[in-house]
Amino acid sequence: MMRQYELVERVRRYNPHADEDLLNRAYVYAMKAHGTQKRASGDPFFSHPLEVAAILTDLRLDDATIVAAVLHDTIEDTAATREEIERLFGNEIAKLVDGLTKIKKLDLVSKQAEQAENFRKLLLAIVEDVRVLLVKLADRLHNMRTLRYMPAEKRTRVAQETLDIYAPLAGRMGMQNVRDELEDLAFRQLEPDAHAMIVSRLADLRARSGALIARIESELAERLAASGIVAAVHGRQKQPYSIWRKMERKSVAFEQLSDIFGFRVLVRDAADCYRVVGVVHTAWATVPGRFKDYVSTPKQNDYRSIHTTVVGPSSQRVELQIRTNEMHQVAEHGIAAHALYKDGRVEGSAELSRDSRAYQWLRRTIEMLAEGDSPEEFLEHTKLELFHDQVFCFTPKGRLIALPRGATPIDFAYAIHTDVGNTAVGAKVNGRVAPLGSELHNGDEVEILRASGQTPPAVWETLVITGKARAAVRRATREAVRAQYAGLGRQIVVRAFERAGKVLSEDKLRNALPRLARSSVEDVLAAVGRGEMFSGDVVKALYPDLKEERPAAPPAKRSEAGWFGMKKAASLIFKVPEEAGNHQNSIPIRGLRGDLPVRFAPNGGAVPGDRIVGILTPGEGITIYPIQSPALTAFDDQPERWLDVRWDIDEAQKQHFPAQIIVTAINEPGTLAEIAGVIGNNGGNIDNIQIVVRSPDFREMAIDVEVSNLKHLNAIISELRTRSVVSKVERVNG
Ligand code: MN
Repeated sequence: MMRQYELVERVRRYNPHADEDLLNRAYVYAMKAHGTQKRASGDPFFSHPLEVAAILTDLRLDDATIVAAVLHDTIEDTAATREEIERLFGNEIAKLVDGLTKIKKLDLVSKQAEQAENFRKLLLAIVEDVRVLLVKLADRLHNMRTLRYMPAEKRTRVAQETLDIYAPLAGRMGMQNVRDELEDLAFRQLEPDAHAMIVSRLADLRARSGALIARIESELAERLAASGIVAAVHGRQKQPYSIWRKMERKSVAFEQLSDIFGFRVLVRDAADCYRVVGVVHTAWATVPGRFKDYVSTPKQNDYRSIHTTVVGPSSQRVELQIRTNEMHQVAEHGIAAHALYKDGRVEGSAELSRDSRAYQWLRRTIEMLAEGDSPEEFLEHTKLELFHDQVFCFTPKGRLIALPRGATPIDFAYAIHTDVGNTAVGAKVNGRVAPLGSELHNGDEVEILRASGQTPPAVWETLVITGKARAAVRRATREAVRAQYAGLGRQIVVRAFERAGKVLSEDKLRNALPRLARSSVEDVLAAVGRGEMFSGDVVKALYPDLKEERPAAPPAKRSEAGWFGMKKAASLIFKVPEEAGNHQNSIPIRGLRGDLPVRFAPNGGAVPGDRIVGILTPGEGITIYPIQSPALTAFDDQPERWLDVRWDIDEAQKQHFPAQIIVTAINEPGTLAEIAGVIGNNGGNIDNIQIVVRSPDFREMAIDVEVSNLKHLNAIISELRTRSVVSKVERVNG
């Protein structure tokens, strides 16, 4: 096991200003915390965090990262707490260790292969500081190196996860060395025969062509030196796993792989890269389609190199990678290498227009590095923003659902299944009831509460941000509105039949459909409900011989009534119900704390049937708003004040609730009487009417009306809309 002074020495080798005291304290603290814990190998557990720290010293990382590595398993596996670590080692280190603990918890969530990409994104999104990922990768690397001590069934799972998630993550971060080793270790575990086969074939090949490699190496070096280029040339061999992947992908045999051996040419600057290309392409014939310039156009993870393949001496294909030493560091160590290169900016890079977010993020971090004073500062400011426009949430069973940022539990419900969305009535986020319109955050566990016979309220359309949810809500709403109109139409038609002394028979109506030019009974009823068809015409279609009994036109009392003689905007009190203003005492709502006073929001107009929400005002009580009320946006950032409430209506009580509608009607004598008549005939109480003159032809009326519930209100609105004098009816806050 690494001694205390050895750890300090490893760090001091590349960082003479390392905080020795801090490193020593972390060593002692973690050693005591892990105590006598043992690893599966029988080694003291404490050897593991030390090895992880050692891997990171090879990447020459800052003190905070090394200390976080030493402490990385303490919160999860020992009695240590975040608070204690913060007190002893400061906030920065506590945050890193906390981040690592968080990731470890994620490990427990189920991760099928098809979810690997999402999981990788989740890691990136949850981790705010790139150093957490560096420690995590080193942690995984050490666990893979000691994989043989794990129980067999666990080994395969860990190896698969490494291949699915951590190796690609290392690649994305540009850490090729770590990636290669992770892949090799996982490959060895998962495909032991294939691994052994490739390794032995590679050894054969090396024995047979060793001389050839040396010859190509020296010939290349001579030609470059002759052109005055300072360069180092290395022959290299592909990794077993990447050979295996190529054999799988291209369905070729080992013998057919032409590029198992490659050469790497390292030069001083970018200009030299192109000079090397000139020399190589002049001396040997190029293989078409194999030239790639990642120097002028770097890869997303900032990899830069020129690739080319030529037909070399002895007609052997020779694959070349040409890059500067600095590009090489980035290629091998990726994001970790940026910490080493304060002048890590690439010439010409500013002109490159790259639109990928990953690239821009890396570009920004490099710029920050160039501006910052120290590698530490660079690392601290490196936030992983790659996937910050997405949130990743889980179902209670651990299924991962990726959604756009700003998504709500309703989006989540529709992402699972349209039926789940349509029947959603509530949500629990991380075990606590949350409004369906609340914003989801990374890592939230969301449970959708459902009830059958539920229709999505139209207002959901404004609460969702995914296209799927919006389309589904719109469809369901359209169907619900249609059903509502059909219900209204049925009442009207039944009454029309009664007036004619007949009984409505759906069978007969079905036979009459061609005459009415409609395709279904419901169509007919909805058309009547919408006022597109006159109920008398339906009666006539079934009983053509019946004498027409159109209802008499409203009495024309123009001279007497008109606009009740009003010329300007005015208020008109129709009826003040006795219980007005009294709702406070008998407010029929469930889900409230009994000790607080409750009232309706002024001008809120919530009626039973509306989705409602309670807003808690400390010292005052609870105010009830319809969920669609624009006033609610004022409380968006105070989720703790939102209460989930429900109506609790006693049908026998016949209570009335105030709502407001805006009716735009033709400016004609008798209009107001007709409107008032519709409301009255439907059993609504008019509280107040405000009339505003909008144009010579139209009047706009704000009508306060008391109704028993939403259905009642909609019936009134629907019937008003059927009247020819009415051009528009809208509910305030509706
Ligand atoms: Mn660990």
